[in-house]
Amino acid sequence: MSTARAGAPRIGVLAVQGDFAEHLATLRSIGVAATEVRLPSDLDGIDGLILPGGESTAIRRLIDRWGLREPILELARSGAPLYGTCAGLIVMARDIVDGDATVLPLLDVAVRRNAFGRQLDSFETELLVPVLGDQPVHAVFIRAPIIERTGPGVDVLATLDDGRIVAVRERNVIATSFHPELAGETRFHRLLATMAAEHADPAEGAGRRRHPTRRTGSAGGAGSTAS
Ligand code: GLN
Repeated sequence: MSTARAGAPRIGVLAVQGDFAEHLATLRSIGVAATEVRLPSDLDGIDGLILPGGESTAIRRLIDRWGLREPILELARSGAPLYGTCAGLIVMARDIVDGDATVLPLLDVAVRRNAFGRQLDSFETELLVPVLGDQPVHAVFIRAPIIERTGPGVDVLATLDDGRIVAVRERNVIATSFHPELAGETRFHRLLATMAAEHADPAEGAGRRRHPTRRTGSAGGAGSTAS
């Protein structure tokens, strides 16, 4: 359990395969403490986790080889936010169409791997993601999956022009078919950091923090969670 690290969450990036270096760099570029996760013990003291893009078949194998499956599920159950890009989305999907077994059933969605076929193997597009504001996201798709079904608890965050779903959120879990970390896009990482800070600071949202402009002489302020 993390205590009173108000405003300074630490986010782990699963670093067994794929583009974890770009996620670490993106987090550090916005001033977020970021750390590589390879072993279950690397998850200690982490307030959020990113599952990067890469090859989901390799990532699933390495998650099992290093005994990471149950500790990651436990982290998610604790309410810490998780964010998966591309292969990271596949790894967190409850259903993978056409065969593969579920790895971490954290998102009530069905995904289809490599859903864009050979001609459109990789492409980039401007994508509206309303929760991130009016400026579109420059979205990079690389042999990307599509989300074919979403359960009732899943919010759709973005669709392509033809209506296909490419970004979702279910409670503390976010996932995108595309790679913001390859396009200098930081807003998904900022959102994750905000969610991680809320998770790390139990006073956040509980109405227990003193209003900054209504201080009445006593010390008050950051770190004081006593009630
Ligand atoms: N095609 C990969 C897979 O199915 C995902 C590609 C990616 O993460 N960019 O695992």
